[in-house]
Amino acid sequence: MPDCTMMNKNGMVSKIQTRIRTDHFKSNYDLVGKELGRGKFAVVKKCVEKVTGKEHAAKFLRKRRKGEDCRMDIINEIAVLESAKANPFVVSLHEVYETATEIILVLECAAGGEIFNQCVADSDDAFTEKDVIRLARQILAGVAWLHHKNVVHLDLKPQNILLTSSHPLGDIRIVDFGLSRRTDNVKEVREILGTPEYVAPEILNYEPLSTATDMWSIGVLTYVMLTGESPFLGDNKQETFLNVSQVNVDYSQEVFQGVSSLAIDFIKSLLVKNPRHRATAEDCLKHPWLNNSHSHTHTGHAHPRLLPSMDEPETSQSESDPESES
Ligand code: ADP
Ligand code: MG
Repeated sequence: MPDCTMMNKNGMVSKIQTRIRTDHFKSNYDLVGKELGRGKFAVVKKCVEKVTGKEHAAKFLRKRRKGEDCRMDIINEIAVLESAKANPFVVSLHEVYETATEIILVLECAAGGEIFNQCVADSDDAFTEKDVIRLARQILAGVAWLHHKNVVHLDLKPQNILLTSSHPLGDIRIVDFGLSRRTDNVKEVREILGTPEYVAPEILNYEPLSTATDMWSIGVLTYVMLTGESPFLGDNKQETFLNVSQVNVDYSQEVFQGVSSLAIDFIKSLLVKNPRHRATAEDCLKHPWLNNSHSHTHTGHAHPRLLPSMDEPETSQSESDPESES
């Protein structure tokens, strides 16, 4: 670990290299079009840098959330983005601005939007298994790189995996490092984080988190990309948690219609309760599903129907709408 990096006991990094600008974001950028997306605490808008004419995505983060000062969480998010600068599958950070109430991250714009949209799309727009293989390889390459750098994302889900373009299908960009942590020099991270549908059983049991925690989420993500169904989603949060802790997964032909058995085998290597027995990102990249795509896979659309269950809000930890004040 470099000397300049400081961490608190939860694996958050508190030193950054990026200069935080205090001049006005709006004097250097024009906001264009409608909002690109929003999450729990942020609103993201498309903007154009005045001097270059280049498009970016501005993520507006409030420094106070639920009455608490969250500036250090944002600094941690910036630090993780900095440490992943050389990774082509992680969104790149261009600039940072700070106002009295917000921090604005000026990011590379991933114009294709969330893979979530194509996971829940009608058959014409849904991913084919061949698409999923290519995207899964990219997600794994990005995550393997992060894990190699001792970074865990802890919030991998279809809303946080974006595309450079949707038609034609581009490349992936991993975003939203708001929950990310460093795993080196940290004894234990035990927090309830993430979204119920995507969290690993060890999180629910307050057991230590590790890179394996992300691998569980990649298993869920792959399931959703191939079938359009969320494997653990119950009628309420309690039911979802129970499904996760019992690893209650439907691998039936009905759900996986037209999907290869290698794909199912791949998911089964990740949705394993014991984190030590779960496949790593490196293991996954060697899995036959991702390495002999010509002989075993189908090219038809992965899931032929609309899936209303995926339209539910992403979290029950609801927060009032994030508002941009600049
Ligand atoms: P939160 O921490 O609030 O979840 P995110 O970083 O996930 O914030 O951003 C919220 C949403 O904004 C994303 O799910 C996505 O739809 C959109 N978004 C985020 N970053 C970008 C980007 N670089 N390019 C395009 N859209 C983005
Ligand atoms: Mg998000």
